[in-house]
Amino acid sequence: MREIALVYLDRSGGLQKFVQDCRKYNGITQIFCHIDKYWSTTCYFYLGCFFASPDSKQSYAVYRFTISINPSDIAELDAALGNYILHHPIQAAQIFQSVCFIAIKTLSLIEQLQTEAQISILLKPTHLPPLPSYILSLSEFPLNYTSQRFYMAEGIAIAMGTVTKYTQGARFLCSEETCPFSEGFRYIRVHLPGATESATVRNDFVCCLCSSPLQEDMKFRVLGDKQIVEMIDAKVLTALKGYSNDQSHFRIQTYTVFLR
Ligand SMILES: [Zn+2]
Repeated sequence: MREIALVYLDRSGGLQKFVQDCRKYNGITQIFCHIDKYWSTTCYFYLGCFFASPDSKQSYAVYRFTISINPSDIAELDAALGNYILHHPIQAAQIFQSVCFIAIKTLSLIEQLQTEAQISILLKPTHLPPLPSYILSLSEFPLNYTSQRFYMAEGIAIAMGTVTKYTQGARFLCSEETCPFSEGFRYIRVHLPGATESATVRNDFVCCLCSSPLQEDMKFRVLGDKQIVEMIDAKVLTALKGYSNDQSHFRIQTYTVFLR
């Protein structure tokens, strides 16, 4: 399926975008916004970029790429891959992870990159098939909690939190100095959709070779934006309008959505 994924990336323009995204990791290492205050009323904002010289490139635990997927196009190219993306997106992302790693290494796009585990791929479908099985309504039972795949859900946002940071990726090292895994990129932890943040960063991981505790190398931590939205099913509007549709009992419950 890797070859098909590569053909798709090439045809859809995804490969070109991916190469551009790699340049971001190479060219601009730091964007800073500096605020200076003069007197009490005037503020000066400086926005600037540092362009790195080849030997001072910043290394990260994880390099994240978003790949836009048109399900109809990919299913036409290869039905099996299209189906895999729609129904097993996390596993399908691993195919793209592998393809992107080979592309980076072959074309020398990111020199600092060491292992395939450092690539994090987010597949974003442009749309989903307009079929009932792709629509998620939390007011309907039974809910299929076990399937981790793409759904469309419609609701009303009733509250939103501020944008905060979460750990997208981290590098851990073995705390035992003589252990070969006390250096290198053996322990890379990446946040996966649906996982809690403690699954990425915690202090009870142990080395698989010598059972010593692992320590995070904070210099490599990659942060992403997170926002929490409180949603409610769109059907609530019917209830608020004041007419009951034959059902004498109903319950209105909100649910929390994590945007990452
Ligand atoms: Zn060890």
